[in-house]
Order: sequence, then structure tokens, then C-alpha cells
Amino acid sequence: MTPVRRQYLTIKHSYQDAIVLFRLGDFYEAFDEDAEVVSRDLEIVLTSRSMGKDLKVPMAGVPAHSLESYLARLIRKGHKVAICEQLGDPSKTRGLVERDVVRVVTPGTVLESTLLELTANNYLAAVVAEGPLAGLAYVDITTGEFAATQLLAEQLPLELERISPSEVLTPPAGEAPPWAGATDAEAYLTTTQDWRTFDLDRCREALLAHYGILSLESFGCDHLPLAVRAAGAIILYLEETQKGRSSQLAALNTYSTGSYMTLDPQTRRNLELFQSGRWENRQLSLLSTLDLTRTPLGARLLRRWLGQPLLDLEELERRLDAVAAFYADAFRRSNAMQTLSRVADLERIASRVVSGTVHPRELVSLKDSITATAELREQLSGSPPLSAKRTGPPEDEGVSRQDDSLGWLLRQLHPLPEVVNLVESAIAAEPSSSVGDGNVIRDGFSPKLDELKRASSDARGYIAGLESRERERTGIRNLRVGYNQVFGYYIEVSKANASQVPDDYIRRQTLTNGERYIVPELKEYESLVLNARERTEELERDLYRRVCAQVGESAAGIAKLAAAVAQLDVFAALAEVAVRHDYVRPTLNHGDAIVIRDGRHPVVERVLDAGSYVPNDAHLSNSETRIVVLTGPNMAGKSTYIRQVAIITLMAQVGSFVPAREAAIGLVDRIFTRVGLQDDLTTGQSTFMVEMVETAAILNQATPRSLVILDEIGRGTSTYDGLSIARSIIEHLHNDSRLGCKTLFATHYHELTELAQMLPGIRNFSVAVAEENGEVIFLHSIVPGGVDQSYGVHVAQLAGLPRAVINRAWEVLEALENPGTERKGRRKSAPASAEPSMQMPLFTGENPLLDEVLSVDIPNLTPLEAINKLYELQERARNLRGTE
Ligand code: ADP
Repeated sequence: MTPVRRQYLTIKHSYQDAIVLFRLGDFYEAFDEDAEVVSRDLEIVLTSRSMGKDLKVPMAGVPAHSLESYLARLIRKGHKVAICEQLGDPSKTRGLVERDVVRVVTPGTVLESTLLELTANNYLAAVVAEGPLAGLAYVDITTGEFAATQLLAEQLPLELERISPSEVLTPPAGEAPPWAGATDAEAYLTTTQDWRTFDLDRCREALLAHYGILSLESFGCDHLPLAVRAAGAIILYLEETQKGRSSQLAALNTYSTGSYMTLDPQTRRNLELFQSGRWENRQLSLLSTLDLTRTPLGARLLRRWLGQPLLDLEELERRLDAVAAFYADAFRRSNAMQTLSRVADLERIASRVVSGTVHPRELVSLKDSITATAELREQLSGSPPLSAKRTGPPEDEGVSRQDDSLGWLLRQLHPLPEVVNLVESAIAAEPSSSVGDGNVIRDGFSPKLDELKRASSDARGYIAGLESRERERTGIRNLRVGYNQVFGYYIEVSKANASQVPDDYIRRQTLTNGERYIVPELKEYESLVLNARERTEELERDLYRRVCAQVGESAAGIAKLAAAVAQLDVFAALAEVAVRHDYVRPTLNHGDAIVIRDGRHPVVERVLDAGSYVPNDAHLSNSETRIVVLTGPNMAGKSTYIRQVAIITLMAQVGSFVPAREAAIGLVDRIFTRVGLQDDLTTGQSTFMVEMVETAAILNQATPRSLVILDEIGRGTSTYDGLSIARSIIEHLHNDSRLGCKTLFATHYHELTELAQMLPGIRNFSVAVAEENGEVIFLHSIVPGGVDQSYGVHVAQLAGLPRAVINRAWEVLEALENPGTERKGRRKSAPASAEPSMQMPLFTGENPLLDEVLSVDIPNLTPLEAINKLYELQERARNLRGTE
């Protein structure tokens, strides 16, 4: 076995669960099974290498300069990668170069920008459970954000779902919480083999050492052993993977899940906070509608805020004040937004400075960004020019209180002159990307470096001038000076002229057409050039490292600055959205009423033509209207309305203005939403089963402070079943005093409107429709009272079903409504006013086609799918007519 092989095996032994990329010259090589995996997943050739007598091992390698992109692909494929570097300089070492792993890259600890999403955080989480309790901590090492909490083990899946980490660290089996499988999060699971990673004493020590403090009291987690264990495990894991290059994390934020509104994954999905389920453009979401932030810092913060609405009135008022300040002053807002767009990703640059992976250009943009924040402070703290006061939207809040509302943030915009000056003087204005080529450190920063560069450029100048000088001296017109790796600089003369070369030329190489020579002086300059180049490289690298280290000392300051910038960015963006789309500042209170005047759905109104959205009121309170049963035909706007109430409430609790004329929101502790008849192919459960499981969760968890949105619950089963279940759920929500939550229940079962007569907390509302010549027109406005028919046949008519089918449907309907009259009258148009009726038999398969028509979920189809469906139905209607 060769010494290199022995070295490799020793290192690999400590990194069994990772792919070891072993630096050999200009390549990172993987061996043995690792090589097979790497070759398969990166689609590169599997070769072999002789590593001893009769020993050939499989090998696959990637060029060192393109490591980052290959690394990205390996991590995405779910591998952990240990990067093993050459520690000594191979050219100066005799025998075996020392090598060791300098970093283990895992999905939760990547720093490479190609692997990170700009506007989302990349979290590493750690969880540990003991009895009914659990500890959870999470960190984004690219931004330094670090938080921990202790919570009920059963809350863990929800909290993990919110954080959606890309990697979760757990203790060895036994102490691992039973979270796996209970969440949709596609996190990479790392189970530590070492039980001590989660040991309380060791974790406490690790935290104290990381922050250089004596007690955890200041972090507020001293009395929360499980939180300490999770947070400590993260520190220990980072030490293990980052090998001492892990950056200083921001102060550990110990939080309680009780201070935030709880949103479960279904609710996040149904309210389309981050992704759309029904619009063709999946990107369309509440986030995309509100996100006018100008920096990645702000974009990430807004996303976090939307996923974690607050319950703290004071903090919410502070946010609303800040938004109001920007809202009131168009001039300062647009100036600030312009300046913000010059701010780069401060958080991530700062952490790359500390980990030693920062590019020279990023240092320059760090400097420019800090300079921009100083301007921002200037712009925002001066008093607004008079003209701006007038042109801003008429809003009495803001202008006078502006300085108070933003002052607390502006005071955190420290200009960090030490960083700006250092980068300004040390780094070239447009540095090259490779440190060492002499174009990174600014001229004048290091006299020694300048001198080296001068010497080298003089020598190069001499060599450049040599060709013309020698042509003149020798009279050989095609003489030329060249360079190659083997011989260095040479003078080349063609065969024909070889006889004319002077005596001092020393022949080095004979080619077919010419001869190559050197002269002693040329070699002297050559060694000057090479020497200077090598020393320049060494010196520039060293200087760059020192500059980075010095900037790194300000990392905490940069992180603080970044945090303030992120908030200003979000406030300005929310104000801009509010102005552009006519939102108002909500009033918040600790009461139990939600009162909205002329509310709109912020996303749906954007999709519709301007002005065509019909605003609607809402008035819910625990003492009066606690449960609203909302009826109306398909496509009338029921779902949109109930979601709009939930979204306005959520936006208010994020600190945003809301799309309404007026809104007064009693803070809500949870929003639940459930939607019947939704395909959940991913979990493999029957849709009705899912619907019921989800509804059960609400009935077990809602409180009088919760807002519950139920959309077509019960639709996923047969009509009688569905109606019975829907009805008993409403009754339970109404009667169980522990629940007492405010509820909006949208349904096409108009039979449910009876309940309002029997139970005092229930009110009927419906979406108004007008009928004209037997056709329905959706008015989209919510009016008191229920509907007494479901307009299913009208909708079928609107969908373009053949006349014969529609007529037959009326016949069947009439027969069902008035048993014994079948085949007597033929009603050509819709009944003027139908009696309260049981619509359900229509669905029981009397007419198979109608059954299907009524179940077509139009909003969920793409236009192409809808058209195809229509053709298919028309075709089958034609056949049906034939048989009739
Ligand atoms: P339902 O739940 O009653 O079947 P939806 O809420 O899905 O109906 O609404 C169907 C469509 O009607 C929406 O996609 C939207 O285009 C339109 N719509 C809904 N509410 C309104 C409104 N208030 N103003 C204008 N159009 C609306």
C-alpha cells in the first residue's frame, strides 16, 4: 500500500457517513465506494488508480477549480461531503504532504451561494425529546440567526414545518423525538452517533464557550434544559463540520411558541401564503403580492414574518407605526427604496468573511452597502421636505410621529467606518476574482507588494522589448520571443536564419523549422519575473487574509446593521404595497371581534381586472355572530371571501396594512383552515380521511381566540354522509364551550341554513346571485340570509352543456323535489323560487354525466384541461342524447 493510500484510509475511517473528496494536486478525488457514488451522481468517468503493489482502486475526481458546482450537485442528491485538503505546500514538501478534512458540507451547513436560495433562509435544526417535552434549536449559519425553544413534543412537527430546515440533527435512537414522518418537511436527517452531542453539561459548556460568557441567563434559556441541549448540539455539530471556521452566531434567541400565532401547514397552504395552489402561476402568493423588498435581507425577513404572525400588541403597533411613517411620506419612501436597492446581502457576506470564503468583489460590495446604509440613515432622519408632506397620501398618522416611529431603527444603523476605510484602502476598486494575481490589493496599501509588482512589471517590460531589440541587433526579421512551461522564455529563429545568430545565443531546442535559444540576461529577468510572481502571490494572499480577519472582527456589528436594514426594507415595502393597492392601517385590540369594512382578497384582486373585485364586510364576535354559514353556488366567491377574512387578520398580525376600507382586529391565537375535497396524492390517504383527520385536529385544538375557516367540509363523501357530518361539526363548534372559536363555514349544502334558526351564535350569509332568463350572474357580494337552492344545474348550463342535458336535469330535479310528478311538466328555465329542497339526489347517479359535471373543479384546471374536459363532456352528452 502506498503512503497516500494509508493516509486516505486513516482519514476516511473518521468520516464513514460522508463522501471524502481527497485533494490530489489539481483534483479532488473520491475512492472506492465513494468513487462509484460520485461517478454515478455527477455523471463523471470512473477510473482507477494504482495505490500499491497489485492494488488498483476505483477513483473518480473533479477539478479543484470547479469544486463548488460539483459540491452543489452532491449535496442536492442528499450526500454529506468531507473536503480533505493538502495542508502543506506540495512543491516545498519532501515525501507525503500532510492532509486533513477542513470542512464537512451538509445540507444545513452549506455556505456556497450556488446552493443557497437568495430570499429564503437555510436552516439547520436540532431536536431532542424527553417525555412530553422537546427541545428545538435552529440556525442559519449564512446569516448567524440562532434560536431555541422548549415546547410540548406534540408541537414539534408544526414548529419544524414552519422553520422547514434543510437538515435536522437528532440524538441516537431513543431520545430522538417521534417527529419523523409527521411532517411534510423534506429535511435531511442526521442522527449523531455520539450521545454526548446532546449531553446537557457538554451542551451548556459549548454555548458558554462559543459566546465567551459565564451564564446562560442572559439568553433566557438557563431553566430550559431541552432548549439548551438542542442549541448546544448545534454548536458542537458546527464545530465538527466547520472545523473551527464557524462564525460567531448572533445572540441565541430563546423564544416561546406561545408568543406567535400558530399556523399549521394546511393553513399555510390553503391561504396560499408562499405558493399558490390554484393559479397557473404557482409563484403567485401572499408573499409575492407583498414582497416589494429591495434586499435579500428584507425578502427573507418578510417571509419569516408571514410565517410567524405576532400576538404581541405592543410590538405590532411598533411595526405598524414604522409602516405608517413610510406610508405617509412618498418622497422619503421612494428615496429609501432606491438606496436600499444598493445594499447587498450583508448577512451572508459577513459570514463568508468569517469562514474565509469571501470573494474580493464581495468585500467591495460590503463596503458599498455599508456606505449606502449611512445614506439611508441620513435620508430617513432628516425632516421631510415640505413638498413631500403635501404629495404624500392623506394620512394623519405618520408625519408628526415619524421620527419616533423609525428612530429606534435608525439608531441601529451604525456606519462602521473601520470596515469601510479598511476595504476602501486595501481592496482595489474592481478586484479580480483570484487572490494572488496582484489585482486584488489596492496599489499603495502595501509598499512591499507595490515594489514586487513594479519589479515584475519592469522585468516583463524588458522581456517585451527584447524582441524588437534583438531583431535590430541581429537583423533577423522573423526572430521572436516566446514562452513555454518547460523551457521558460526563449528566442526563436527559423532554420534559414539560424546561421546569423550571434555568439552569445545558447541553443536549447531544435524544432523542424527552427531553433530556440536563450541568452543569460533573458534568464535573469525570467527568474525575476517568476520570483516576483510567486512572492506577489504569497504576499497578496497573506494581506487578503489579514484584511478579512480584520473585517471579521466587525462581523457582529455588520449583523446588527443587517438586521436593522432588513426591517427598514420590509416596512418600506409594506408601505409601498399599501399605497399602490389602497390598503389601510388596521386597528388592533385584545377584544374578540373581527370587523372588516369593504375587505378584499389581496391576491385575487390582483388577478382580476382593475376595479372588478367586489369588496365585502365581515363582522364576527364571540358574543354575537360567532359562526357564519355561508352558502351560494359554486364559483360564487365563497372560498375567496372566507380566506380574505383570514388573510386580512393574518396581515394585521404581521404588522402590515390590509386591503379594506377599515379593519378592527381582535388578536387571534391561531388560524385554522380546512378545505373539503382536496386531492392529497402525496400522503396516499383517502381525501375524505384526510379531510376528517384535519377537522378532528381543529375540534381538539381551537380556543375562543381562534379563527376557523372551513370550506366545503363534508364534500368528500356521499351527500347524506357529508351533510350529516358538516351539520354535526357546526353544532359541535357552536355548543362545545371549550372551543368557542369564531368560524366561517362555506358550503353548498343550503340545507345547513336551518341551523341558524336553532342556534343563537350562528348567522346565515350567502353570496348574491342574480337570475336573468334562467341564467345565473354571480354578484360576488355577501348578503345576510342563506340561499335555498344550489344552482348546480345553472352552473352546468354556464359550462356549455347541451340544452337537452340541461332540460333533462330540470326534469329530474323537479321529480325529486315533488315525488310523483315525474315526466309531467317540462320546465324550460330555472324555477323562479324553489322551495327548501334536498338537492342531494341529483348527485346519486341518476344521471351519471351530471354527477360528473357538478364535480368538475373548474378553478383547479388549466384552461387547456378545462377545454378538453368540456369537449369530453360534450361528446358524451351527444352519445347520451343518442341513447335517450
Ligand atoms: P366558490 O368557493 O364559491 O366556488 P370562489 O371563491 O372559488 O368560489 O370564487 C370563484 C371565482 O370568482 C374566483 O376565482 C374569482 O375570480 C371570482 N371572485 C370571487 N370573489 C370575488 C369578488 N369578491 N369579486 C370579484 N370576483 C370574485
